[in-house]
Amino acid sequence: MYDIENIRKDFPILGREVYGHPLVYFDNGATTQKPRCVVEAMTDEYYNVNANVHRGVHFLSQKATELHEAARETVRSFLNARSTSEIVFTRGTTESINLVASCFGEAFMHEGDEVILSEMEHHSNIVSWQLLQARKGIKIRVIPINDDGELMWDEYERLFNAHTRMVSVTHVSNVLGTVNSVRRVVDIAHDHGVPVLVDGAQSTPHFAVDMQAIGADFFAFSGHKIYGPTGIGVLYGKEQWFDRMPPYMGGGEMIQHVTFEHTTFNELPFKFEAGTPDYVASTGLARALDYVSRIGLDRIYAHEQDLTRYALERMGRIPGMRIFGHASEHDAVISFLVGHIHHLDMGTLLDRLGIAVRTGHHCAEPLMHRLGVEGTVRASFGLYNTREEVDVLVDGIERVAKMF
Ligand code: PMP
Repeated sequence: MYDIENIRKDFPILGREVYGHPLVYFDNGATTQKPRCVVEAMTDEYYNVNANVHRGVHFLSQKATELHEAARETVRSFLNARSTSEIVFTRGTTESINLVASCFGEAFMHEGDEVILSEMEHHSNIVSWQLLQARKGIKIRVIPINDDGELMWDEYERLFNAHTRMVSVTHVSNVLGTVNSVRRVVDIAHDHGVPVLVDGAQSTPHFAVDMQAIGADFFAFSGHKIYGPTGIGVLYGKEQWFDRMPPYMGGGEMIQHVTFEHTTFNELPFKFEAGTPDYVASTGLARALDYVSRIGLDRIYAHEQDLTRYALERMGRIPGMRIFGHASEHDAVISFLVGHIHHLDMGTLLDRLGIAVRTGHHCAEPLMHRLGVEGTVRASFGLYNTREEVDVLVDGIERVAKMF
């Protein structure tokens, strides 16, 4: 049994009203709500443990360090990484991708070298590489998608040449809901001797990921999208790459010895963690990962798949409904437009009914161009959403449609 009633009680915000209506929160792709255990663990750390980590000999500093490093182990186990040396704490997916583009790019990419992205990438996985392009003169190649919103595999294979140095693709599209077979992406890239970065921002909250099964060289995700706090994320990277990449930022924590002439860097993963880390957020993230693991990602996946199928079926019957993304593997994200109703009008009017959805280009403007639209409305589901809430959404869309 998926005990949705009790699960919802873990999230106090779900009990609130918006404009006199019970909140229906369908903007989980942007960020998720936080269970009590996450907020309480962080409050407890601030009230009872707070001290800077890795530096102090005193009791509190050692306790805070223990919590921070225990959180790293929780992340390692969650990802099934081989070692905590492979787990770097960042501010989120965006920083993780920028770190790879910057540091891998610095070490291994030169003018004329190429990175392969896909047409469904979030801006964070496009602009990071464009910054490297401006610095080093690299080239960006793009895997096209078909009309169902799936990667075109033959085209992908054709993009490789002697200059290809990196493939960087999203695990799940934050617009189309497409679940990319990242194992296949990795196998093809590795056949060409090219490493792969996977953007896991939209996969980690919805189903179990396993670094040994995926085989990617780098994997990024954000805490706030998986029921954890804002301001913390993770970059997983294989030691063989991390070892040979220069640091991202300079400062405390990331050094061994400093003189004005020369600095030696700390061991992994600290080489990539300059400055005081968000050691309270790491605790919050660990509690969030414990929370989803306790419910079970397989059960969360089954629940959300049921909701997605139900929503697709009900929404598909609304006259004038256009749903974007029909991949055979479809995650808990539905992008749509109805007739000629502007996405912003739809979003604003649904909001008045207490329904939180996303509108706009979803930080994926190149994908919007491919779809031939300026923006869409996006409903994205989380582990606490219900069929009844989908009914409220469908009724809301129908009400808005009648107004136009
Ligand atoms: N990639 C994808 C696929 C995303 O959906 C998002 C967040 N919308 C990001 C990257 C960026 O995540 P963050 O803002 O947490 O760094």
